[in-house]
Amino acid sequence: MTDTPFEAKARAREALQTFEPYDPAFTPSKINLSANENTYSLPEGYGRALAEAMASTALNRYPDPMANELRDAIAERHGVERRAIIVGNGGDELLFNLLFTFCGPGKRLVSCPPDFSEYALFAQMNEVDYVPVWRRLDDFSLDVEALVEAACDAALVILTSPNNPTGDVLDHAVIRRLLDETDALVLVDEAYVEFAPEGTSVVSWVADNPRLMVLRTLSKAFGLAGLRCGYLVAAPEVVDMLGAIRQIYSVDVLAQAVALAAIRKRDLLVPTIEKIVSERERLGVSLSGIEGVTVWPSAANFVLARMRDAAQVRARLRDEHSILVRDFSAAPGLEGCLRITVGTPEENDCVVSALTTLLEGK
Ligand SMILES: *Cc1c(COP(=O)(O)O)cnc(C)c1O
Repeated sequence: MTDTPFEAKARAREALQTFEPYDPAFTPSKINLSANENTYSLPEGYGRALAEAMASTALNRYPDPMANELRDAIAERHGVERRAIIVGNGGDELLFNLLFTFCGPGKRLVSCPPDFSEYALFAQMNEVDYVPVWRRLDDFSLDVEALVEAACDAALVILTSPNNPTGDVLDHAVIRRLLDETDALVLVDEAYVEFAPEGTSVVSWVADNPRLMVLRTLSKAFGLAGLRCGYLVAAPEVVDMLGAIRQIYSVDVLAQAVALAAIRKRDLLVPTIEKIVSERERLGVSLSGIEGVTVWPSAANFVLARMRDAAQVRARLRDEHSILVRDFSAAPGLEGCLRITVGTPEENDCVVSALTTLLEGK
């Protein structure tokens, strides 16, 4: 026994001692365009099917650990076998488990920032050597030669298409080169692919390329961010490894039942997705019409916009207009950038008019 004050951090695993709880402490706001959620009300038949699935789910039994009925529906969606699918508590759990399983201390993860910050975060947690291959900071294009070179020593490469937060789509030739010229596992994160042009996905490549994996989520286009369900399409051997290490009940009975209904009724979402895509184009044009605002083209359900005093603009949007957007202005390579989720036409009009007021004083 000693008199030293209790310090949980000092007892934690060394790699974790600098971490703090993630609590974005959102100010309740009228319009939330900060997290790339689908802000539209659910299409009639889709919403009803989800509600019925929820109401008829018994909570006294444990979930099916491998969620086989859901896997079958997803497998059918993509024309693959059940053995090529694994589900997770959001894409996030699958990302963490991939790093836990196929990387770990001393192994390398390569990705191309600015991209999804969780890659680097989960790498740090798992004591993985994270090697960023930075995009060009004007058009966010990839440095393909540097990527291929870095990938030669990597256990895992993660590419995001469309990318968050820059919105651009990956050239398939880059994936081809990584598969042909390196021995790394390659994950293509397609969280936003439903909003991208037809033909963007590389899911159909997985069958012939066992080192390729594709991540999908129900959090974005499917309008189910709160449900926590994502999945990976991968070689059966990869699925088996991930199936062996996963928290067995991480996808609960409600998530499995609702996700199953959502996958089965996915055609009902098409009009909403088309609307979001057309609103994205309209929002992009309107924002670039505001003095001093630069907008990058996007294939996702958000746009990245650069402007003067972005951090202050974001705070005034929140405080004076009750609109939340995501501030990236302090992130490396994203000086002056805000990421704005594409909302309903009314929400988009509000953010454009608020920004016009703030930046042009009108
Ligand atoms: C949102 C997102 C995910 C997955 O999110 P979940 O809600 O955990 O399914 C994965 N990758 C990217 C790039 C994302 O933006």
